[in-house]
Parts: sequence; C-alpha cells; structure tokens
Amino acid sequence: MDLAAARRLVRIIRAPAPIVAAGSGGFRLDDAAVDALAERLLEGGGGPAGPLNSAAALVAAVEQWARRALDGMVAAGVPAARLEPLLRGALVESRLREADPDASVFSAVRRAHETLEAAGAVPAELAEPVARAVASADARGLVLLLAPALCGLDGRDLVGRLNLSLPREPQAVSPDWFGAHARADRPTQYWLYGAPRGSGLFLVLASRRCAWARCADCALHRLGFRDGVGSPELVAQMEHVAADSLTGPERAEVSEVFLSNNGSVLDAGSFPEPALLYGCTRLARLLPALERVVLETRAEFVTDDALRRVQAALNEGEREVTVDLAVGVEIFDSSLRNRRFHKGLGNGGLRRLIETAAAANAGLWLYFMYKPLPGMDDVAARGDIERAAAWLDTMAARTGVPITLYLNPTYVPAGTELHEAFLAGAYTPPRLADVKRCVAALRRDHIRVRVGLTDEGLAVPGGGFVAPGEEALVAELRRFNRLQTFAV
Ligand code: SF4
Repeated sequence: MDLAAARRLVRIIRAPAPIVAAGSGGFRLDDAAVDALAERLLEGGGGPAGPLNSAAALVAAVEQWARRALDGMVAAGVPAARLEPLLRGALVESRLREADPDASVFSAVRRAHETLEAAGAVPAELAEPVARAVASADARGLVLLLAPALCGLDGRDLVGRLNLSLPREPQAVSPDWFGAHARADRPTQYWLYGAPRGSGLFLVLASRRCAWARCADCALHRLGFRDGVGSPELVAQMEHVAADSLTGPERAEVSEVFLSNNGSVLDAGSFPEPALLYGCTRLARLLPALERVVLETRAEFVTDDALRRVQAALNEGEREVTVDLAVGVEIFDSSLRNRRFHKGLGNGGLRRLIETAAAANAGLWLYFMYKPLPGMDDVAARGDIERAAAWLDTMAARTGVPITLYLNPTYVPAGTELHEAFLAGAYTPPRLADVKRCVAALRRDHIRVRVGLTDEGLAVPGGGFVAPGEEALVAELRRFNRLQTFAV
C-alpha cells in the first residue's frame, strides 16, 4: 500500500457523513483518536507526535487506532445486532495486509466478537458463519457476511465503493479449527495468487481426509473429515468461491485453478469422481479466462482414463482448458524419501507418472521441500534439489512434459515429529535467503521453477520460513515465480 492509498483509507474512516448510505446502515467513525491520526497523516502536522510519512508508520498507527476503537465500542455497549466493529475491523485488516502481511487488527476483531457474542448481539443466522470467519482471521469472509446485514450491500460492492480491495491471502486454519468449524458445503480455504497470466485461484476443498496419512511432518491430512462428503456439497464448495466470493474483476482474471483437498482429488474414495467432473465443468463456465486446472494428487491415483475424463469435463465449451497434476515428491533421494519421510513413492512410480502425463498431454508440478528433515543442513538440502532439477530437466526433454519443480521451504506444523525436533532445538526452519540462493542455481533448459511462499497458516510460532526483515525477499520470489528471472 502506498501512502496515497493509506491516506484514502484514513479519509474514508473519518468521513463526516455515512460513507455508505444504502440499506439500513452506513458507517462512519467519530473518534478523537482517528481525527488526531488523520491530522498527522493528511496535514503532515500533528503536534508533538509529528507527521506520519511512511506506510510502515501508518500501519502501526492504524493498528493501534483500530484496537482502541474496537475496544471502545465494545466497552460502550453496542446495540443488539449491530456488528459494525467487526465490519470496520475486517475492512481495515484487508487494507493493512496489503501494506504489511504481518499487520493485523484481528486480535481486536476477535475480542469484539467475543463480547458481542456474549451479549447476544450476533443474529442467530449469522452466529455460526461469523464465528467460523473470525476463528480463521478471514477478513474477506467477514466483509462478505456482514455487509448485506449492515449496509444492505453485497460486500464486493461495498469494497468497490470504498475503493478498497478484499484480501487475497489464505485463511488461517488448523486441525483444531477444522474440528470446530469445517462444513461440508464450504471449502477449508481459498486464496488468490499470481499466475504467469492473470491470477490463480487456490481452492482447498473439504472432503474425506487423505487415506495415506503417513508422510513425516504432514499436518494436512488432519484437515479433512473422517467420513465422506457427497458430490452436491463438494460442488457447492467450488460454487461458493467461484460464483459468490470473488469480485467481478477477480473472476475475470483467474486463468488457473489449483484444486486441492489436502490429499488427492483423483482418489475417488475421498473425492467422488462425479463431483470432480461436474465441478470442473462449472469452474470452466464461471471463470471466463480459465486456461488451466491443476489437480493435487498422489501419484498412484493418476491414470490415463481419469485424466481424459477430467479433460473432457473441462472442455465442454469452446475454450481449451489444460490439466496439470501437482504431486508431492518432497525429497529426490529415494531412500530418504521413503525410509525417513515415508512418502510411499518409488523412482519407478515417479517415472510412470511422467509417462502417463506425457500420454495425456498433461503438465506436472512436482513438489520438493527445502530442508524437510532434522539434521539436514543447507548444503545437503541444496544438493538434493539441484539433483532433482537435473533429472527432471532430462525427463522433460525426453518426454516433452511441461514440468515445474515446485520448491516448498519447510515450515514446522504443530503435532509432528518436526515440531518435537524444533521444540528440542534439533531443527530450525530454512531461511528464505538460503532458498533464494538455491533457486538461483536451478536454471535449466526444459523445466520451470516456482517457490511456495505460504505456510497455509499452519506453521507454529517461530516455525515459519520468513524471518523478520525477510519480507522483501517474499516479494522478490513472487516476482521470480511470474518472470523466471533466475538472477534473483
Ligand atoms: S499424501 Fe499429502 S496429505 Fe497425505 S500424508 Fe502425505 S503429504 Fe500428507
């Protein structure tokens, strides 16, 4: 967020008249603290505190203001069913995160929600979805839920009128969140990311959990139901996002959809095939710029027949939508991969996967992890990834399969062996600077390289791979993902 955008936000929140007049609500803030903040920001004066002349200073000031404002409103007692603190908090959050991914007023939003809920001020029909959104710090979800109730406006319309945008990052979920809030007709998470053309929509659908559930360090299989989810509900999850949660411009720019269920979407035992096929047809209809669908799966579920059925479902219309497969390999050394990481994928299976993809004209995204095991230092981690790049380059040249080496820096998820090693001081997550050095050495003729830059909200405190001060590296690697500029 630049300073001009920040100033616009402050003008909005101190507007003297309701800024949204439609429907029953409208909202504005009369608050001495925000007036003082605005004076410092807009007029460049502000007495002893001095002017605010950087976005970072603004972020800190707005965060402070939001906490005070929300606390004040809650303490003053808000009228029943008036949920403005939550809506304001969510709007401010959505703006702040553009300036600083770590900026958050969500603890204030959570406190406001607890008080409102205890006072019986949350209407019954909103209680469950609002609690679900608050628990996963889902600012986008809160705006979409609350704007119609408070302003008589669709949340997408509201942010458009305010010249703001909705957050594009993943919701913060965990196995505990899933146990308390998962619903069969709502996805676990979704977010937008930069794709080579336009943007990508990452959809994590809530289905029966991964049947393998043995990979070391994996918490993802705990983000799934024990029982199966029906096809109508799974299709409803996709429509909830593609039809009801994206703004018009967002829908128009989605060129790529990544379909995940934290396991294998090609495993009919966890994700019924009718849901996958009909869901693909619906996505192709709802997203006019869609060019590619990526299916996340284990290798053993990939068959020529299954790929051809998905391709047919996607290409009912006139446009051509290609299919890629995203498969976790994690470690190139097959002994470490299977004996220590328990991946259950031999080199023969990996070769068969590439040949099947070649026969079906499908692309491959092969996941590797940077430094996934305790005791693995940066030299060993980099060597493993460089050997993977060399082999994949040869295979891509031989088979013609478009292969992307997808490098995920390891984070520490709760309740895993890696977590125990981390707590015992026997493991430290990689630093992004080391990942960047590794990426710079991966240029090959026939493969693309992408870096995973999200821990999907699953890292324990201190167990993420972005250290304080490394935020600029995230932006650099995002740019690399788009442009493949290896001199990162
Ligand atoms: S296949 Fe994927 S979801 Fe299943 S246990 Fe392994 S890493 Fe976890």
